[in-house]
Amino acid sequence: MHHFNYRQQVLYAEDVDLREIAAKVGTPCFVYSQGTLQRHMKAFEEAFKGLDPLICLAVKANTNRAVIATFAAMGGGVDIVSGGEMYRSLASGVPAGRVVYSGVGKTIREMEMGLEKGILMFNIESIQEMHMLNQVAGRLGKKAPVSFRVNPDVDAKTHPKITTGLAVNKFGLTMEDAFEQYQVAKALPNLELKGVSCHIGSQLTQTSPFADALSRLVDLITKLREKGIQLELLDLGGGLGITYDQETPPKPAEYAATLRNTLEELGMRPVLEPGRALVGNAGILLAEVVVTKKTPVKNFVVVDAAMNDLMRPSFYGSFHGVQPVQIRKDQETITADVVGPICETGDFLAKDREVPRFEPGDLVAFMSAGAYGYTMSSNYNSRPRAAEVLVSGEKWAVVKQRETYEDLCRGESLPDWME
Ligand SMILES: *Cc1c(COP(=O)(O)O)cnc(C)c1O
Repeated sequence: MHHFNYRQQVLYAEDVDLREIAAKVGTPCFVYSQGTLQRHMKAFEEAFKGLDPLICLAVKANTNRAVIATFAAMGGGVDIVSGGEMYRSLASGVPAGRVVYSGVGKTIREMEMGLEKGILMFNIESIQEMHMLNQVAGRLGKKAPVSFRVNPDVDAKTHPKITTGLAVNKFGLTMEDAFEQYQVAKALPNLELKGVSCHIGSQLTQTSPFADALSRLVDLITKLREKGIQLELLDLGGGLGITYDQETPPKPAEYAATLRNTLEELGMRPVLEPGRALVGNAGILLAEVVVTKKTPVKNFVVVDAAMNDLMRPSFYGSFHGVQPVQIRKDQETITADVVGPICETGDFLAKDREVPRFEPGDLVAFMSAGAYGYTMSSNYNSRPRAAEVLVSGEKWAVVKQRETYEDLCRGESLPDWME
């Protein structure tokens, strides 16, 4: 569900005509619906009601401070994977006590930062990391709250680039190692055992892999209890899928229903780290058609957005709906590739898609671009990064300025021998 709908043949974000945003802000730009963000957060809250869940936005999906602040105002936390994400989250008003820190390569500096700020939990992903964190905490005179991220070796049945819970993936510890290392960690002076966590992949469209992962965690938790190790938090990661095209992923309520009994029996507080499910369908990428062209075998629609703005199609072959902002009367359709101006054949946003016969100047919306859209964008081909806009009802605001050409060169200099 989202709040991008047509009114008299014109696409609106909530109560705002997208033509107005394009005229004032320019294109390409990302437009987020705050009502949709809030609705998704509520769906998670209600699904896990009574279990005292901590719902943590996976910040890597969308780092905009206005987006993070929207969830923080509703009591949400964040799942972060870098010092930069910690900085952004705290700057957006997320209390440190609602920050969970995941990632296979936390540096000493990043560990110090988390300890100084007093975050909720470090999800440890290797044995070396455990010892490093223990040392860093000791040096600062602190106790580091930790969980181990375990790799339950379940098949998330999703795209190979976004599966993370298989034995061949770089994430987490095996169940056997985790069982052993909890006992080692218990004896380390500067660690406090807080929880256990896993994250098996992204864009999951079935509940069974989550249930499998949970049941493997239950085995571990039971064995740990026998050893006198009691954990308070059960972090199930993110990964719930969304509808980009024809997928029918479980709703948060269904997802929660498969886990509820087990969570109640364990009596542990669930921590959830949804990224895509919270923000994916709450955003679009708005672009303008530059030219159209026809080769002997194909039609192309060239727009002013490209793979540097929305990388998912070229990186994962992902699908994003292509919608005209204005539907014309008797609109003809053609089959075309919708592409950007970047000098790479891999630069496409949609392939062999039935689209309206666009003309230069037409506005196009690429749907479901709220997650892993702006955050994966780059300056490739010296393209300034797009603006970001947040809409709420009839109100809207630029929440990130479009980059300028000066921004592109910021920090660059010639070495002294060339001056
Ligand atoms: C990426 C990631 C998430 C979020 O994944 P989604 O599929 O966007 O929900 C959650 N937790 C961790 C540890 C991650 O790396």
